[in-house]
Amino acid sequence: MTRRTLLVGAGAGVIGVLLASCTPEPAPTPTPDRTPSPTPTGDSLAPIAFARSAWSTDPSALGAASFTPVGVQSAARDALATPVRGRLFFAGEATDADAPGTMAGALRSGTRAAEELLAAAGAGERVAIVGAGLAGAAAASRLAATGLALTVFESRDRTGGRIQSVVDDERWPVPAQLGGWLIGADDTELGEQLNALDIRTAVLESALWRSPDGVVDAPSSQPVIDAIAAAEALPADVPLAQALADAGADPAEPGLAALLAYVAASAGSDPDQASSWFPPTLPPDTRTAVLGDLGAVLAQLVDGVRVSLSSAVSRVAYDDAGVSLGIATGESLSFDRVIITVPLGVLQSDGIEFAPKLPFAQRGAIADLGMGFIETVWLRFDEPLVDTDATIWHAVGAEQTIRTWFNLAPVTGDAILVGIVGGADAAEFAALDDEAAQAAAMAALAPFMQPIA
Ligand SMILES: Cc1cc2nc3c(=O)[nH]c(=O)nc-3n(C[C@H](O)[C@H](O)[C@H](O)COP(=O)(O)OP(=O)(O)OC[C@H]3O[C@@H](n4cnc5c(N)ncnc54)[C@H](O)[C@@H]3O)c2cc1C
Repeated sequence: MTRRTLLVGAGAGVIGVLLASCTPEPAPTPTPDRTPSPTPTGDSLAPIAFARSAWSTDPSALGAASFTPVGVQSAARDALATPVRGRLFFAGEATDADAPGTMAGALRSGTRAAEELLAAAGAGERVAIVGAGLAGAAAASRLAATGLALTVFESRDRTGGRIQSVVDDERWPVPAQLGGWLIGADDTELGEQLNALDIRTAVLESALWRSPDGVVDAPSSQPVIDAIAAAEALPADVPLAQALADAGADPAEPGLAALLAYVAASAGSDPDQASSWFPPTLPPDTRTAVLGDLGAVLAQLVDGVRVSLSSAVSRVAYDDAGVSLGIATGESLSFDRVIITVPLGVLQSDGIEFAPKLPFAQRGAIADLGMGFIETVWLRFDEPLVDTDATIWHAVGAEQTIRTWFNLAPVTGDAILVGIVGGADAAEFAALDDEAAQAAAMAALAPFMQPIA
């Protein structure tokens, strides 16, 4: 029996009826059959494995990463995180003002909310956590050994939320990561967990910037840094795109546009939406990619905790005495306190009804913050398309949807390319069916197909 089966089993013991009646999340759709060794040129080129995400339309996410829109203060995140009546506690990447939209921020928020709950809770209380992504799992891990009666409710049929490692040894020599998988140098907590679990990582650092005409110089990020610095002195926040224009930079210039596409693919927001006062983080030159199963991190965090999968919470009724959770199938369960970790996109869509409605501070923050879009596509070929050691590829001056790629061939020995796309382009990509998504991905690779001169 696998660890995941065990988790389902644990939930089934609590509300088995609910589990039985829920629809599992659609699985990612790998290409069913291996094609016979294609030649890596021309129209006949076809991947031997394909997987893609669609977080933008997934009802349990409705986006990829929260961002701070122009005119909004990052204090909105603190407002979102504020406990309500000592009964409702909030976690999730959107509540972390220091590293929103990241795995590190999600983990930290879960521990923070668990500490807040512990400060209010009495011995043996019944506690629920809504959502089994990194934030919910971190909260569960902190609360597991405290003697509280703990249950985690998760709408999907798996834990992990916006991290999803597709483990399929037939198709993927390393798991295809459809959500978060790149960690920063200061993500020490996650880094330590990966080390402790012996999960493989690889450093991606050598970049290739390529136009349809050949290799070009890497664009400087200085215009973006200068524009942000100038905007900080303005009396009111302006969109990052305007800050760039005001500073004399042209966001449509091919090199800068490729750099901004990379920023959007990391942060989820386009420059015309993003704040200049709380701007998206410029992606670092060096990224550490997780090449193993991130599911193991989740499994360890929720070890020993009762997790009820396929159990969407649709209603949260609360007063000074406790909280009642309505499960989408109609059942109602009572708790003393609840930690809510669902994505901002779910809160914005009224996916959960609160009774009474949340205080203005929370509702204002939910309305003000932005939910950005990031999508990813994994392609595996029989052999590398291009002979290069560069692990990060940027398409410069190409009119393609996906302009940022990670080339895993140098670090895995397998011809795996990972495309990422952010902002409005990501929303468009999510709307494509699998056939169209694969065609769009292949078209986006065209600038890289010629040999590197
Ligand atoms: C494509 C993509 C790429 C990314 N890349 C990176 C990266 O490289 N590095 C990085 O640091 N971060 C990255 N991120 C962001 C990172 O993955 C997230 O910030 C983090 O995983 C969020 O964790 P969370 O626990 O806050 O939310 P989630 O993981 O979304 O967890 C919330 C959970 O709540 C569940 N839920 C929703 N509604 C309900 C309901 N009604 N009832 C019960 N449960 C519910 C969801 O199913 C989910 O499991 C990326 C995200 C995406 C989508």
